[in-house]
Amino acid sequence: MLEQIQSSTCLSNLDSHSGNLFLLLLNTLLASQCTLKNPDLYPPDNSAKLEDGDHFDFIVVGTGSSGSVVGSRLTEEKKWKVLVVEAGDYPSVTTEIPAIFFSVQQTDQVWKYSTKPAEKSCLGYKNSICHCTRGKLLGGCSSINGMMYQRGSKRDHDSWYHEGNEGWDYTSLTEFYEKSENVETDVEHVHEYGQKGLLHLTRYKFNETMRDVILQSAEELGYNLFEQEGPSGFFESFQAIKDGVRINSAKAFLGAVKESSELTLALNAHVEKVIIDKTSKEARGIKLRIGKRVMNIYSDKEVILSAGVINSPQILMLSGIGPKNHLQKVGIDVIQNLAVGAHLKDHVVMWVFSKVSDEALKSTDMLDEIYEYFAHRKGMLSHTGVLNIQGYTNVNDNSTNPDILFLYSIIPKNSTTALDIFTDNINLNSFSSEKLREYVVNNHVLVTLSYCYNQSLQEKFCLRIKMLQVIQRFNQDILLMKMMKIWILLLKEFA
Ligand SMILES: Cc1cc2nc3c(=O)[nH]c(=O)nc-3n(C[C@H](O)[C@H](O)[C@H](O)COP(=O)(O)OP(=O)(O)OC[C@H]3O[C@@H](n4cnc5c(N)ncnc54)[C@H](O)[C@@H]3O)c2cc1C
Repeated sequence: MLEQIQSSTCLSNLDSHSGNLFLLLLNTLLASQCTLKNPDLYPPDNSAKLEDGDHFDFIVVGTGSSGSVVGSRLTEEKKWKVLVVEAGDYPSVTTEIPAIFFSVQQTDQVWKYSTKPAEKSCLGYKNSICHCTRGKLLGGCSSINGMMYQRGSKRDHDSWYHEGNEGWDYTSLTEFYEKSENVETDVEHVHEYGQKGLLHLTRYKFNETMRDVILQSAEELGYNLFEQEGPSGFFESFQAIKDGVRINSAKAFLGAVKESSELTLALNAHVEKVIIDKTSKEARGIKLRIGKRVMNIYSDKEVILSAGVINSPQILMLSGIGPKNHLQKVGIDVIQNLAVGAHLKDHVVMWVFSKVSDEALKSTDMLDEIYEYFAHRKGMLSHTGVLNIQGYTNVNDNSTNPDILFLYSIIPKNSTTALDIFTDNINLNSFSSEKLREYVVNNHVLVTLSYCYNQSLQEKFCLRIKMLQVIQRFNQDILLMKMMKIWILLLKEFA
């Protein structure tokens, strides 16, 4: 149908009545698109009003998952003036539509970081380089991520506490999780979560065979029970989506205080460094660039760096806090010699592409889906499909501490646009892209992502490349259910 319409050469000859109806429909769809990008949901951008020498009580750098919460909570205290600074702009319409969240990864809304060419990893990618996506926009990564919500692991929280960080144990933090959460009331286990917080959370049902296959396979293998403590088990997670639209943390938290006169938000404002008093070693403010204007803004109390896992250490180093040798080499005055940037921990992730049979997914008409979304915020575009299933397992021993997280996605048969977005964004090399294209032309493709958290497992992870060959042999003909089981069992075998 879509192809037929697009290739049609018929000229519009609508008479006045049908013409009016048609224009009404077009207008409605256009208006619907506009309301998706709605700056009124956020505080106004006051970057133009900032002047060199301005003072605030607190300066928060970055408006991502963490900065938005900190900025919002500080503003609740009426006696403090709070400046929240963000290098990026308001989120685009694309970031708001759940199903296409993956397509902003090579736009101006990200920092476009990538790894150096590697010998043992990223081998399926162009020049052995992996992209490391980080959001550069209001809401940070919470405006471009997969929207899945999961509380932190009890084991991690408790280990931080045992290292001397009082108040960071899981039990003490429960009240803060509850304070943030606003879980929709008609879902299972709702009483275990907060229902009055600012972050709207929901659980979307993806009613397709593939969902049942994954969950049933996990259940048969004994992985079905979700436990918060690990977390462990296979389950459909909460997602930060409301009425088919993404809720990023800036919308949820800064949006809630958008009218406060205590809050100043500055967008497209890049923090070049923290101004630090060399004698007392206290932070005094920030050096800020807005367009061509460079200014010093001062904080009477604190500067909070929440610029993300790469940029926070970078700003510290630019401010003179970091490894002495490195800073001296690039001509930065050393204020404090510290191993800043040396502790980045990332997970190894392996993608496995499997052909799945036609009945895994109902065929859809994209025009209908687009209409359904823009008219009603429903349908395929309003959620992320099987991506809300998370599978935490331990393949090494029988404890509930997970070392692998499984996530899933589907590239529907013949959807070459989805494939192009996918291969460009993750930087697949031509060999891998062509192989995948061969799959997608005739089959739905299930993408299984396995994230590995255990360091010793990570070292053995290259062994799993072998599994790909085994899995490819199996996938062609066997039942979907068997395929999922084999995949999990193989991981155990190679652990
Ligand atoms: C593609 C993708 C999918 C993901 N999916 C999920 C998921 O489904 N569920 C989940 O829990 N996690 C997910 N994550 C991870 C999660 O989104 C991040 O861990 C989290 O958002 C990080 O929050 P943050 O506040 O530390 O940093 P960020 O959200 O990165 O925020 C940092 C902010 O600081 C700004 N900034 C940086 N430098 C400067 C500067 N010099 N001056 C001014 N501003 C600056 C940035 O522009 C950014 O807005 C995903 C991440 C990605 C990239």
